[in-house]
Amino acid sequence: MRCPQCHGHDLEPKQLENGLIAAGCQKCEGAMLSLINYRFWSENHQEITEEKVNVDVMEQADEQHEKAQVCPKCSRLMTKFRIDLSTAQQLDLCTHCDEAWLDKGEWRLLKQLELHGQLPKIFTDAWQRKLRIQRMQNVVKQRYIAMIGEDRFQQVDDFKQWLDQQPEKDEIKQYLITTYE
Ligand SMILES: [Zn+2]
Ligand SMILES: [Zn+2]
Repeated sequence: MRCPQCHGHDLEPKQLENGLIAAGCQKCEGAMLSLINYRFWSENHQEITEEKVNVDVMEQADEQHEKAQVCPKCSRLMTKFRIDLSTAQQLDLCTHCDEAWLDKGEWRLLKQLELHGQLPKIFTDAWQRKLRIQRMQNVVKQRYIAMIGEDRFQQVDDFKQWLDQQPEKDEIKQYLITTYE
């Protein structure tokens, strides 16, 4: 199997974690990870080699390739999946082979975000939908911060969080709306 990034470079077995083997490229340091292997590993191992990870998440962002990548196994196009809002990195998955491509540093990134134990979840509609909603909420939030200023926004947001916890929140909202002129 050839590296999808570095044409002509063969992938070789590479240990991502104790007991978790992927097909790694020595040139770009990416790795193809079979989700079947991953599931087996996550059910049986899960003890992670502790290493101090304090790399800035964004630091690795420029290594992100934008183009859809071709699966080295079946030659179909792989699908990109956002990991988290804190990073621009995306994971590539071949839905046909159920194999994920991890760019250099992405496994470490998953560990840093404490998502290394939940890999298949990232590839679900529910996870991706949650990220889209969070992203939209962030856009709305930024717009209001720009309008009313950070301090006042914080006050409003604190109030909103308080409100969300009240059993009578609907009544309180109704009161605010009906009495406001
Ligand atoms: Zn490579
Ligand atoms: Zn494939």
